[in-house]
Amino acid sequence: MIYDSHLDTPSELLRQRNIGIDNPGVQVDFPKMKAGEVGGAFFALYTAPGTAPDTATRRALEMLSATYDACEANEDYAVLTFGPDEVPGNEKKGLISVFMGMENAAPIQESLPLLRTFYRLGVSYVTLTHNEDNAVADSAAEGKRWGGLSPFGREVVAEMNALGIMIDLSHASDRTFWDVIGLSKAPVVATHSCCRALCSHRRNLTDEMLRALGEKDGYVGINFYPYFLSDNYSPEKPWRPGVKEIVDHIDHAVAIAGIDHVGIGSDFDGIEVTPEGVENISETQRVLEEMRHRGYSEKDILKVSGQNLLAVWSRIVNYSE
Ligand SMILES: [Zn+2]
Repeated sequence: MIYDSHLDTPSELLRQRNIGIDNPGVQVDFPKMKAGEVGGAFFALYTAPGTAPDTATRRALEMLSATYDACEANEDYAVLTFGPDEVPGNEKKGLISVFMGMENAAPIQESLPLLRTFYRLGVSYVTLTHNEDNAVADSAAEGKRWGGLSPFGREVVAEMNALGIMIDLSHASDRTFWDVIGLSKAPVVATHSCCRALCSHRRNLTDEMLRALGEKDGYVGINFYPYFLSDNYSPEKPWRPGVKEIVDHIDHAVAIAGIDHVGIGSDFDGIEVTPEGVENISETQRVLEEMRHRGYSEKDILKVSGQNLLAVWSRIVNYSE
């Protein structure tokens, strides 16, 4: 079973997508997840840069509500899932586990009570930033406001450690990344990031970062966005990166961070261009076929396809207890 650490599907739920049916041309719905043997995924509550604080909070709550509604309306397909220990039971019942994450900490404003409230509603990770510096930390896209974590961001890291919420460093500036590595007592994750050694995008992770994630017993989920996979990608050219490039990033991350610290964070529903041959979530299986072809053992394929994500989540929850 595949467990994907990042989908932007809640934004599509607000646009009225019915994920209980097989929608032509879309990247994620429950039938496609089922067809692709996707056992579960994180649904990210994404708020865009420039959103006013109260509007961000309202939007995150509306996405959360839409995610609850989608699971209730499709109870034969999927179930809201609040912890990694619920996954084996869901698998046994043949249900897709829907996990909740938050992408961009803007909805918590400058309030630890709001962070705790989202946690109680099921939010299991928070991606500290999107493409804009916010009240918590600096983003890879800007990196100008705080020089890393803000003073409030330091409180957020401690509170996330205490609650067992995963700290997600995808989109973080390099200085934010290193601040959190130094400060967090629990392992940390990058739910949808690629390797900067293979593609120079500023939001990809350097080898030093990959090594630090591995040493901290953390996790990186490889992103499928063509712009993060290859410097040769350009919308003007007919060529798009595909399974080969995705598995190149997996190979590299495994070599640097270690086989227990790499997974899949496709970013489906958050990417307007898909990799060649992996056009929607049912086709993520092709990535595993390429890994098999390159000689990965079935045990290691299971790790990368989902076990590593569930294991790091367990470690972070255990740390808090
Ligand atoms: Zn993202």
